[in-house]
Amino acid sequence: MNCSRMDVNMVMLDRLAGRSVAEAHVMDYELILFDADGTLFDYDRAERHALEKACRMHRLEYSERLLERYRKINSALWRQLEEGFITSAEIRVERFRSLLCELGLDAASAPELAQDYLSHLAQGAYLIDGAEEICRYLAPNYRLAILTNGIQEVQTSRFQASPLVPYFDRLIISEEVGFSKPRPEIFEYAMNALGHRCRSTTMIVGDSLTSDMRGGINYGIATCWYNPQARENDMGLEVDHEIYSLDQLGRIL
Ligand SMILES: [Mg+2]
Repeated sequence: MNCSRMDVNMVMLDRLAGRSVAEAHVMDYELILFDADGTLFDYDRAERHALEKACRMHRLEYSERLLERYRKINSALWRQLEEGFITSAEIRVERFRSLLCELGLDAASAPELAQDYLSHLAQGAYLIDGAEEICRYLAPNYRLAILTNGIQEVQTSRFQASPLVPYFDRLIISEEVGFSKPRPEIFEYAMNALGHRCRSTTMIVGDSLTSDMRGGINYGIATCWYNPQARENDMGLEVDHEIYSLDQLGRIL
C-alpha cells in the first residue's frame, strides 16, 4: 500500500470510529525514531563515570576541570563528524591524544586510554528520567527505533544492558551505516531496515538541533525537539514539536 493511500484509509477508519480529522492528524504517526544519548540515555553520567575510571587506571588525576576539557574536545570532534570530516573510529583515539597534548603529557598512551575509557563507557546504561516509562507507554501503539551517532560496540552494549530492549524494533548506529545524522542516508537506511516507507507517519525525537532536528527536517519527517534545559533554538529550525520532559511526548502521541 502506498503512503497517500494508507493516509486516506486511516482518515476513513478514523471517521468510521467517530474521531474527527483533527484528532486523526495527531494520531497518525506510526514510527518514532529516538536519538539515544541525551534523549533516552544519560550520556553525561556515563561519560563522567568512564573517564574517572580510565584516569584512575592510567594514574591520571581526574577532576571536573579535566572532564570539561575532555568534553570540549570531544564535542568539537563529533561536530566534525556531523560535517563528514572525521570518522567515529578516528574520534576514539583523537580525543585522548588531544587531551593528553593539552595537559602537556606524552600522548603515546592515548590508544590504550581510549580503549579503557570505551570499556567503561560501554557499561554506562544510565537512563534519562522518564525514558523507560514513556517507551513502555508508546510501544503498544507505535513502532520504536533508536537512531544514534555513536560507536557500535559502546551503543550496542549500553542498549542491551538497559531495560529499553523490549520496546524497540531496531537499534541503528551511524558507525554500522557509514553515515551519521544529519545525513539523509542514515534516515533512508533506517526506513529501509524497518520496512517503513511513509515519511509523513514518521517522527524523530532528539535533543540535538544540529543532528536530530536538522536531519529530520531535511529528510522530510516530523521532528520533536527534546529540550530539557530550555535552550534557545539558535539555528532557526522549525521543529514540529518541542518538549521539556519526556513525559510530554504523551501529549503528542
Ligand atoms: Mg543526543
